[in-house]
Amino acid sequence: EEFYRRLPKVELHAHLNGSVSWETIEKLIKKKPHLNIEHSMTAIGRGQRRTLDECFQVFKVIHQLVDTEEDILMVATDVIKEFAADSVKYLELRSTPREEKNTGLTKRKYIETIIRAIQMCKNEGLDIDVRFLVAIDRRNGPEVAMETVKLAEEFLLSSDGLVVGLDVSGDPTVGSVKTLLPALERAKNSGLKLSLHLSEVPSQLEESDLLLNLPPDRIGHGTFLHPEVGGSQGLVDKVLKHNIPLELCLTSNVKGQTVPCYSKHHFKYWYQLGHPTVICTDDKGVFCTELSQEYQLAASTFGLSREAMWKLSQQAIDCTFAPEVVKEQLRQKWTDLQPQVF
Ligand code: 5GP
Repeated sequence: EEFYRRLPKVELHAHLNGSVSWETIEKLIKKKPHLNIEHSMTAIGRGQRRTLDECFQVFKVIHQLVDTEEDILMVATDVIKEFAADSVKYLELRSTPREEKNTGLTKRKYIETIIRAIQMCKNEGLDIDVRFLVAIDRRNGPEVAMETVKLAEEFLLSSDGLVVGLDVSGDPTVGSVKTLLPALERAKNSGLKLSLHLSEVPSQLEESDLLLNLPPDRIGHGTFLHPEVGGSQGLVDKVLKHNIPLELCLTSNVKGQTVPCYSKHHFKYWYQLGHPTVICTDDKGVFCTELSQEYQLAASTFGLSREAMWKLSQQAIDCTFAPEVVKEQLRQKWTDLQPQVF
């Protein structure tokens, strides 16, 4: 629907390599035919579902296709342009820095290249403000986490405000989060904002409780936090007390089968509480979606008016990791655009 495409939006939960579009995958496949990769291996189409485990296999395939500085520059630029074309006015991209021995890619170069892509888009005059979160893959353990935090700290000081924080993601069933706490505490103390994947799968009560004590600045998914799905009131109370916004990705959770269907998505629980929730895509390429589509799905599933959806997109501005001046500019942009959208 045109309304949701025109609606100015904020995207706060987008993994770079999960956001690669069909068109960009096509270019990568042509560049690397010897890998014998097909589209069916990099995306989960309409009506299809996978287990979370199978989703993580998909990322491995995409990582094979994206393994040089040149690839990362193209992927990041394309993804930013696609979000801009969907009226996303503010985007926080996240990605796990990778080292590739075969191509000479280093973690530092990886981050620098994404920053370069952001700057190129800015210089082209695209109407989108893009920031970057350095991601920690939990399965890589505490040493890599600490190394990543130190790298992120450097960029926090040198990237002209483009690197704003950290993400912790990766297969939630692998690795212990307890061992990552020192790295996360250090990150927090150095001014990096924290967005953590939390309670993405059931029975992570203890782990989620530990992480909520940090506390994080935002929560990714939080699917199993509330008591109705085996979480606890104690966890909910902590989220409410610290007023930690939730990044919610409807299609991702349905296709990854952590949520049985759209109408049972935990968006409803948190929205009814009046708690800050931000609709996001997670991996628009892998899950074949767009942010406008996610807004439309939320509206139709939960019977929300256009006005309510406008308010939701506007309130997402408060949940960004951008400096206050940027938030103020965004609020002004929303006010200016309102007559054109309705
Ligand atoms: P990248 O960090 O390479 O740009 O994006 C892909 C990575 O993001 C995956 O390897 C995984 O670590 C993380 N990721 C993407 N989607 C999800 C998700 O739904 N849940 C979790 N826990 N991690 C994800």
